[in-house]
Amino acid sequence: MSISRPRSEQLYAEALQHIVGGVNSPSRSFKAVGGGAPVFMKRAQGAHFWDVDDNRYIDYLCAYGPVITGHAHPHITAAITRAAENGTLYGTPTELEIELARMLKSAIPSLDKVRFVNSGTEAVMTTIRVARAYTKRSKIIKFAGCYHGHSDLVLVAAGSGPSTLGIPDSAGVPASIAGEVITVPFNDLGGLAQALQRWGDEVAAVMVEPIVGNFGMVMPKPGFLEELCRMTREAGALVIYDEVISAFRFHYGSAHTYDVFPDKAAIEPDLTALGKIIGGGLPIGAYGGRKEVMEQVAPLGPAYQAGTMAGNPASISAGIACLEVLQAPGVYERMDALAVQLADALKQSSLSYGIPLEINRIRGSFSAHFCSHPVTNYDEAQDTDGELFAQFFRLMLDQGICLAPSKYEAWFLTTAHTEEDIAATIQAADQALKVMAGK
Ligand code: PMP
Repeated sequence: MSISRPRSEQLYAEALQHIVGGVNSPSRSFKAVGGGAPVFMKRAQGAHFWDVDDNRYIDYLCAYGPVITGHAHPHITAAITRAAENGTLYGTPTELEIELARMLKSAIPSLDKVRFVNSGTEAVMTTIRVARAYTKRSKIIKFAGCYHGHSDLVLVAAGSGPSTLGIPDSAGVPASIAGEVITVPFNDLGGLAQALQRWGDEVAAVMVEPIVGNFGMVMPKPGFLEELCRMTREAGALVIYDEVISAFRFHYGSAHTYDVFPDKAAIEPDLTALGKIIGGGLPIGAYGGRKEVMEQVAPLGPAYQAGTMAGNPASISAGIACLEVLQAPGVYERMDALAVQLADALKQSSLSYGIPLEINRIRGSFSAHFCSHPVTNYDEAQDTDGELFAQFFRLMLDQGICLAPSKYEAWFLTTAHTEEDIAATIQAADQALKVMAGK
């Protein structure tokens, strides 16, 4: 089976005339999978997409994470419609904001106080400012391969060595800013200890995705977060968790309140950045944490952060509705069970065709790296076969299965995926791997 997409190609040519690179986020381009026109979608419902050429796809991209209830979920759509009918933006506080704040706090007890913003980028950027205001220090430690949005400070890459001062990962980020960031390999406590020993009294915060979603799905090794928190506090710095992908992804709560971590008190962060799922598919971000740290924020404290669109009734209403859907019994267990089926079948097909595939599954999400070694950090994720991935990606797309166009991105299940979707995907993947093996 092969799908033709003449209208997508035509629209891409047009988009290139008006929108830089033809896309409004570089991750949407097909640059990492050999180039060409990305698919232009026109409609989405449940676990399915329809493109402008009327081809149907099963969606595992899920908008890079926010879409966990499937597209156009009636409960969320009704909430957005109600919000739109009542006016989408007031520039005043609303009762809805209190409701979503309460829901977040009851699911994530480390949030004494929260503030809503418009994106994960803003949320992370502000946690760094708040940590700097609180500690009166300026350096940040982050982990290689963890993505924290596109603000200057976190757009830095590692140099060589176990713990290094960052180098700009983007033109336009001054070296002086990248020099405020220290990069350490994920899961490497030795590297973290070395960084803290060398720069500890200048470090405002250690920032980490407690469960990584940005170089595939990667769990912290047992004891990693516990020791990270202990060492960070000993150095007088704050722990910031970037849970923009992970919160409400694996269970109703944040990654750090998930049952795989036996001692939750030992891994509690000072600040947490949120986004994606908590907006039910509309733009949102939030950050929150310990009361005395959050009280650094204006109007209470000296750290300034503001937003015309922040807490807008449409995003907040969609977020409340999305979390309500996720509170229903069994939703996570169901996504988990479907992901097990799919991941196991992928592994089985890869074994039978002799194509190395390493799957990291964490409940309803997983990554599938073309390699034959474990993926526990960014170096290992880089050392995987991008060409095989690109081939697989296109073979899947041509059979109506939509994955993210990058070997680093995860597959996401939603509450809308069905047994039939999984069966069709298993069949398509088997076919793709068979073609790739030349069989
Ligand atoms: N943090 C993490 C962990 C993310 O995955 C992302 C986006 N993929 C961001 C922050 C940035 O969020 P946004 O794209 O909403 O600005």
